[in-house]
Amino acid sequence: MRAFVYDRPTDVEQAVAAVAADPQAAFLAGGTTQLDLMKDGVWTPDRLVDITRLPLRGIMVDGQLMRVGALTSMEELAAEPAVADRLLMVREALLAGASTQLRNMATIGGNLLQRTRCRYFRDPTVSACNRRSPDSGCAAVDNHARMHAILGVDERCVALHASDVAVPLVAVDAQALVVGPQGQRHVPLTELWVRADEGPSIEHVLGHGELITAVDVPLLPAGWRSGYLKVRDRASYEFVLVSAAVAVLMDGDLIADLRIALGGVGSVPWRARQAEQMLRGTHVDPVRFEQAGRATVAGAYTLPGTAFKVDLAVATLTRQLLAMTTEATP
Ligand code: SF4
Repeated sequence: MRAFVYDRPTDVEQAVAAVAADPQAAFLAGGTTQLDLMKDGVWTPDRLVDITRLPLRGIMVDGQLMRVGALTSMEELAAEPAVADRLLMVREALLAGASTQLRNMATIGGNLLQRTRCRYFRDPTVSACNRRSPDSGCAAVDNHARMHAILGVDERCVALHASDVAVPLVAVDAQALVVGPQGQRHVPLTELWVRADEGPSIEHVLGHGELITAVDVPLLPAGWRSGYLKVRDRASYEFVLVSAAVAVLMDGDLIADLRIALGGVGSVPWRARQAEQMLRGTHVDPVRFEQAGRATVAGAYTLPGTAFKVDLAVATLTRQLLAMTTEATP
């Protein structure tokens, strides 16, 4: 690993100033993917600003809103009673997202900003990677791609967004609270990440020195039901193939309201607004669920190794919609 300067400030302003002042500096939180990237030589910051001593850990519930400090661990958030009661799909995504050891180290802020798991991106001997080196090409498109995205991608990059918990958070319109050199702002998670087909080397909209300090998560009102279904090659210690976060409010067998987001398919967590529109106010109908799934993946950019994800996404969403709507029906 390359030598680097290590800072450990004790307040947010110092941390932001330290990173903002040095173009080669970066924040360090749980380190569960950052250190891997550094050891592999893929990511080489000159200065690491360790934020783990900042007062950004903890969960506050105020009415319909839950504020999650960015340094809250995945395990702590999964154990929060309000999450079990009002956001079950978030809890399920957290528990499916990593081993217990990782969940105790990984932070929510770091989880949202984790880098892609594309094997070519993480292999410094591979030179063709537009995400790492703009205009160098894409080894995944030219070689074998399987754990890659089919939505929000093109021939320049098919990198998949790797976070599980980001999927249900996008479904409920969570927002990141961000502090930077210019002050504080809210960034809706639906606008935090940049699609690979809009610029493969730009992963999110945060500027250098901007730090996520918390995530504001609306709790589902009483009567809603939610769940997260993750399909993968094996039941644990494995990354996603396709996932579906679905929240529904039922009125008898009528879908009064719903929220849907898909994981494993997009270069960003994929909010399925068209499917929501197609199904809101309709009765439980597997055929219509499948049509909504087909509409969601229409226009997918597929490669020989990723084409299976089209049907898998439709089947996963249909199954999760059925599970949520039929169990919610009295
Ligand atoms: Fe790089 Fe994206 Fe291609 Fe992976 S898919 S090799 S991250 S350009």
